[in-house]
Amino acid sequence: MTVQPLDELTDAQRDLVERARTIAQNDLRPRAAEWDRRQEFPEDSFQILRRAGFTGLTVPVEYGGQGLGVFEACLVLEELAAGCMASAMSIQMQVNGPPRVISRLGTEAHKKKYLTEVADGSTRFSIAMTEPQAGSDGTALATTLSEDGDGFRLNGTKCHITGAASAHAFLVFCRAAETTGPDGIGAVLVHAGVEGLGPIETEEKMGGRGVAEGIMHFENAPVRADQVLMKPVKGSKEGAAFLVRQFNPERCGNAAMSVGVARAALEDAIAYVKQREQFGRSILEFQCIQWKIADMATELDSARLLLWRAARTDIDGFPGMKETLMAKLFANEMAVRVCNEAIQLLGHKGYLTRYPMERYFRDARGLGIGGGTTEILRNMISGEVTGVRISQRRR
Ligand SMILES: Cc1cc2nc3c(=O)[nH]c(=O)nc-3n(C[C@H](O)[C@H](O)[C@H](O)COP(=O)(O)OP(=O)(O)OC[C@H]3O[C@@H](n4cnc5c(N)ncnc54)[C@H](O)[C@@H]3O)c2cc1C
Repeated sequence: MTVQPLDELTDAQRDLVERARTIAQNDLRPRAAEWDRRQEFPEDSFQILRRAGFTGLTVPVEYGGQGLGVFEACLVLEELAAGCMASAMSIQMQVNGPPRVISRLGTEAHKKKYLTEVADGSTRFSIAMTEPQAGSDGTALATTLSEDGDGFRLNGTKCHITGAASAHAFLVFCRAAETTGPDGIGAVLVHAGVEGLGPIETEEKMGGRGVAEGIMHFENAPVRADQVLMKPVKGSKEGAAFLVRQFNPERCGNAAMSVGVARAALEDAIAYVKQREQFGRSILEFQCIQWKIADMATELDSARLLLWRAARTDIDGFPGMKETLMAKLFANEMAVRVCNEAIQLLGHKGYLTRYPMERYFRDARGLGIGGGTTEILRNMISGEVTGVRISQRRR
């Protein structure tokens, strides 16, 4: 049983969904609880997905990928997250993260090296933007890139970086010395293990536990000129403008994972209420249970429709702002509601770690914080629909 409107997809898209679903259900789902319990990066899942060609899903064909768009990436991420959230997260950064930015801003040499390696799965990227004092206020970042002879030096601390400890390379947002706010922001490509990058610390967390967030300290880390993707320039706000937009593919992927995990919860809940009997009858015969299922299914479909609309606005890998923000906001909150109701439908079994419901809920919860909190998304949506963008800064 599935609750997905496949009929409006092309044959190629249906085939893609089928391939992702088969892997997710047969290979990823059986080990989802294990990655969560052990808080271990799902390397085996990643290798299965790499061999199946999913790491190169959105990499242009000329660099060894499949050249597909945000829409197809969303189809795949929904399937993967319905099987195993950690495994989906291991792919999200490759299909929707730094490789998108490299495709847009990179030189031919960057593309030949990094996109080819992403496609064949030999390089895994993380994106390092957040800092202890710069969370929702991303342009408060303080990591600096200073000129040093022919190259540069990077100094600063990044935190909450998904997959940092298992990444081979990072897209690091930084700023020119003596700049503040949106002025002078840029981005560089840094390799794991580079001199000046201290040991990456990770912290225990609630959900998505197979892919930990990491804390990174850069102390005079050398950056060659050819590792600079967007040079931070004092007096230019171009980097900050790009920074806001480059999150849109990732936000769509985040929404797709919300849809996937909520779908898994709904499907499991439906299977359960059909067979569970109380008062001498199936609990699905109680109208209250039918209405819960109806509301969950309606919310799930609404989220997917908003997401598909957003993903279809993709031009050159970057979907539209308003559509993306609305899709992520609704999908994030929908997933928490649906997973929470699914726990209720299973009674105490929904609350036991022996069953996946409580994991679905934990996995869903962080998606409304990463990639822009639901509060920040609301601020931005209001700005998009009214045309009045109110500065959040103290005047
Ligand atoms: C699962 C997960 C994965 C992540 N992965 C990455 C990653 O890979 N790379 C990366 O760089 N970062 C990552 N992050 C960090 C993430 O981007 C930040 O957590 C997020 O931007 C919020 O910042 P903060 O946690 O410092 O919260 P704060 O910004 O301190 O916010 C605290 C609360 O205040 C609210 N708030 C703040 N300002 C406003 C405002 N103006 N209006 C209304 N409400 C406001 C927020 O919505 C929130 O509820 C990840 C986070 C999570 C949870």
